[in-house]
Amino acid sequence: MASSDGNGGGESRPVVTRFAPSPTGFLHIGNARTGLFSWLYARHHGGKALLRIEDTDKQRSTQEAIDVILDGLDWLGLEFDGETVFQSERAPRHAEVAEKLLAVGKAYKCFATSEELAQMREEQRAAKQPMRYDGRWRDRDPSEAPEGAPFTVRIKTPEGGETVIEDAVQGRVKVDNREIDDFILLRADGTPTYMLAVVVDDMDMGCTHIIRGDDHLNNAFRQIQVIDAMQDVEDGWERPTYAHVPLIHGNDGAKLSKRHGALGVDAYRDELGILPEALFNYLLRLGWGHGDQEEFSCEEAIALFDINAVGKGPSRFDMKKLLNMNGNYIRAADDARLAGLVAERIDGADTALLTEAMPVLKTRARDINELADGAAFLFKTRPLELTEKASSLLDEEARLRLSSVSSRLQAETDWTIEALEANLKAYAEEQGLGLGKLAQPLRAALTGQTTSPGIFDVLVLLGREESLARIDAQAAT
Ligand code: GLU
Repeated sequence: MASSDGNGGGESRPVVTRFAPSPTGFLHIGNARTGLFSWLYARHHGGKALLRIEDTDKQRSTQEAIDVILDGLDWLGLEFDGETVFQSERAPRHAEVAEKLLAVGKAYKCFATSEELAQMREEQRAAKQPMRYDGRWRDRDPSEAPEGAPFTVRIKTPEGGETVIEDAVQGRVKVDNREIDDFILLRADGTPTYMLAVVVDDMDMGCTHIIRGDDHLNNAFRQIQVIDAMQDVEDGWERPTYAHVPLIHGNDGAKLSKRHGALGVDAYRDELGILPEALFNYLLRLGWGHGDQEEFSCEEAIALFDINAVGKGPSRFDMKKLLNMNGNYIRAADDARLAGLVAERIDGADTALLTEAMPVLKTRARDINELADGAAFLFKTRPLELTEKASSLLDEEARLRLSSVSSRLQAETDWTIEALEANLKAYAEEQGLGLGKLAQPLRAALTGQTTSPGIFDVLVLLGREESLARIDAQAAT
């Protein structure tokens, strides 16, 4: 028997969650977050995290669109259990469930034509009544329909009472059953509706917990009708525990749009240069927290995550916060790994040199693009192209100074940070100059830019020969 609290036997069975994205061409970060929550919940409880691709819209569900989702999840480190389920392959099973409900009288054939239904809706609109199917074929005999007339299969929903969900995030939510009409399970062409497909798949996959966006809360009330109706028909149809997670909003409180950063996970990786562990942590922290801890390793997240602690209010997406967090993860990341990521962004980059340079490069960067910008000077070819600002630093006086610096450095036998620093400091002192006055034109000549890592780091990373050649190219002769 269905329990009225919407919490079936979910608590006692081993936890099974699912993430059920539709291939739309990108893995929206809002979806990625519910995927993360489903995955973490299962891992936390030692259960199974399943993946189902809802690919019934054949036009959008190209292999490419499916791969975008699989790649995005893989990149975030979310490995799902068992075989990925493809909803489109299960249409015969969906139809079977509708047939079974038909056989036990919990569903019925509706022969209403589309003109008839349009008229019904028109009348409801005119009478300012809610627009819903009025059950006109609920108690009629199919023999009343014209021979061979097309029909849909509709579920027979309860006429009284209410449907209550004890939602793990939203709390207790309920709907008067009169508001739930006899919705369609099978279309006239025999194909299952989304409402039927989702719930049949959830039950066949043994899902105990449905964690998803709160835009699906209304669907839950309908899906429960199918579960309740099937309860006496097949074993295993128990109401799952629902957790409807609030959607992400922009930092101005409006619904998240592209302008706020509603991009695909792949764009965070490729265009914005975000590390997967940073996005993982950021999405985790959007709507969930543990004290005032800011950063969690995957293991910590698994140990600490629980769905009840997810807030009911919408969370706000803050790009600046994500970038700052990403900067922290960059500083903690392995240098060779970062070098590999940067090398993909610079033509002709040498990963060994990048790895060596990484400790000084990564101190400031907030994303991989900034890291690549900071590293670009290492791979520039002579004559260097100077930015306008860099070029303006190299006036006659500066060029003359570069020329004496060059002679001094030619004579330097110990090309190390310490020796170079001592050398140039002594020179600056002799000349009565601040070190900055010296470093600025030197930086312009060595990097073509006005910002770079520390000037002695730059000299060492470029090496003696390349440094001197770059200085001489700008020095007054
Ligand atoms: N495929 C649906 C979506 O991408 C999710 C369905 C569900 O979680 O029940 O919005």
